[in-house]
Amino acid sequence: MSKKVIVIGAGAGGMMAAGHAAELGAEVILLEKTDHPGKKILISGNGRCNISHNRPLESFIAQYGINGRFLYSAFSRFFREELQQFLRRYGVETITKPEGKIYPASQNAREVVRAFEAYLADHKVTLLLNTGVNHINVENGVVVSVRTLTTIYPCDAVILATGGSSHPQTGSTGDGYRMAAELGHKIVKIRPGLVPLKVKEAALAKNMMGASLQSVRATAFQCAAGEISTGLIPPQDTGMGISGKKPKLPVIESRTGDAIITHFGLSGPIILEMSLAIVDALAKGPVSVNIDLKPEISELQLRSLLQQEFNLHSKREYQTILKSFLTSKVLDTFVILSGIDAAKPASQINASERDRIAALMKSLRFNIEGPFSMATAMVTAGGVSLDEIDPKTMASKIISGLYFCGEVMDIDAGTGGYNLQAAFSTGYVAGESAAS
Ligand SMILES: Cc1cc2nc3c(=O)[nH]c(=O)nc-3n(C[C@H](O)[C@H](O)[C@H](O)COP(=O)(O)OP(=O)(O)OC[C@H]3O[C@@H](n4cnc5c(N)ncnc54)[C@H](O)[C@@H]3O)c2cc1C
Repeated sequence: MSKKVIVIGAGAGGMMAAGHAAELGAEVILLEKTDHPGKKILISGNGRCNISHNRPLESFIAQYGINGRFLYSAFSRFFREELQQFLRRYGVETITKPEGKIYPASQNAREVVRAFEAYLADHKVTLLLNTGVNHINVENGVVVSVRTLTTIYPCDAVILATGGSSHPQTGSTGDGYRMAAELGHKIVKIRPGLVPLKVKEAALAKNMMGASLQSVRATAFQCAAGEISTGLIPPQDTGMGISGKKPKLPVIESRTGDAIITHFGLSGPIILEMSLAIVDALAKGPVSVNIDLKPEISELQLRSLLQQEFNLHSKREYQTILKSFLTSKVLDTFVILSGIDAAKPASQINASERDRIAALMKSLRFNIEGPFSMATAMVTAGGVSLDEIDPKTMASKIISGLYFCGEVMDIDAGTGGYNLQAAFSTGYVAGESAAS
C-alpha cells in the first residue's frame, strides 16, 4: 500500500516535496489555496527567478545566519547542482551571473513553474487549486487528515509548505504558523525581512524621492540620528552573510552598495539586506541610518577635492559645482540641509561652510520609523521553531506524520537565491521522508 501524503501549499517547497514524494511511490494530493501554483516563484527576482547562488557551501550556509546550520543535512542531499540537474531534466538550462547568482537561462520564472507543473503531472500528483486548508487533524499525536472548508482529506502524512506571510497576494498569508501553533509548535516571532524602511524625516525623503544612491555606505546605529558617531563605523562591511567581526553596538550593521530614497524612506539592495537587523534593533530602542555618499574617500580628502573645484570654478554658484558630486534628485535638498544660500559663488564659500558640505556628504542621516509593511517584505523572518524539527527528515518532533519545508520554518536569508534554494532543498527532504 502506498502512503497517502497531503502537501499544503504549491509554492517552491511544496511542489518539490509533492513531486518527490510521488516519485518515490506515495499517493500525493497537493492542496493550494490560490488559483495557480508557484505564484511567489513567478514574482521572484523581478520575474527572473534567482534560484540559487554559486558561493561555497560554508559561505552559502552563513547567509542564513545562526539558523543556517539546520540546512547542512538537506543541502548534502539536494543542493544547487541537483536543482540545476532537475531543471535541465525539464528543459530549463541555468546561467550563473558574474556575481554568482543562478537563474534560468531564459531569466523567466514562468519556465521554473512550468518545470514543476510537468514534474507533478509526470508523477501523477493530484493538484487541487482554490483549496485552502484550515486545519490539520491529529489523533493521539499522529496526523490523520486535513480539513478544508468543505472536505476532510484522510492521510498518513502532511507536509506543511504554506510559506511566510509577506506578499499575501501570492497566497502566503501566514496560515501555516497558525496551524502549526494549534498543534503545539513554537513559532519564533514573525518579522519582515528584506523590507523597505520608513524614516521619521518623511518630508526630507519625499523631496529626494527616486534618488538612486550608487556605491554608498549605509551604517545602522542603535541610537537617534543626532547621536551618531561616524568614527565608530567599522573599516569593513559587516552583517549577516558577511564574514568578519560582528560590529560593536551602537553600530548594528554597515554595508556598501546601492540604495534608493523613496517617498517614505529608504530602499534598495543594501537597505533591504540590513532591514531585518534594523527591525530587530527597533524593538530595543531608536535606530538611525548614516549614509556616506562618498565612501571611497575620507572626509579630509573630500574637503580638499571640494576646495579644488571651488577654486577652479570660483565664479560659479556653489550648487552648480555640487552637481558633479551629487545626483540631481539629492542636490536641492542637500543644499537646503547645508544651510548655505544656493546662489552663493564658490569663491565666497568659507572653510567652515566647505567642511559642513563635506560632513553632510559623509553623513546623511535618517531616524528610522519602522519597516514599510509585512506585505512588502521579500521574506518572513521567524516561523516554526527549528528546535522542534528534525533537520535530517524535516519531521516534526512533536506530531508524528507532520513535516515542514520552506519559509514556514524559521529560516530566512538575504537576496541571492538562498531562500528559494532552502525551500527546494527542504522540500526534497520532506517529500522523501513523508513518502518513506
Ligand atoms: C518579491 C519577491 C521576490 C523574491 N525573489 C527571490 C529570489 O529571486 N530568490 C530567492 O531565493 N528568493 C526570492 N524570494 C523569496 C522566495 O520566493 C520565498 O522564500 C520562497 O518562495 C518560499 O517558498 P515556500 O514554498 O516556502 O513558500 P511560497 O512560495 O510562498 O508558497 C506557499 C504556498 O502555500 C499556499 N498556501 C498558503 N496557505 C495555504 C493554505 N492554508 N492552504 C493551501 N495552500 C496554502 C500559498 O498560496 C502558496 O502557493 C522573493 C520573494 C518575494 C516576495
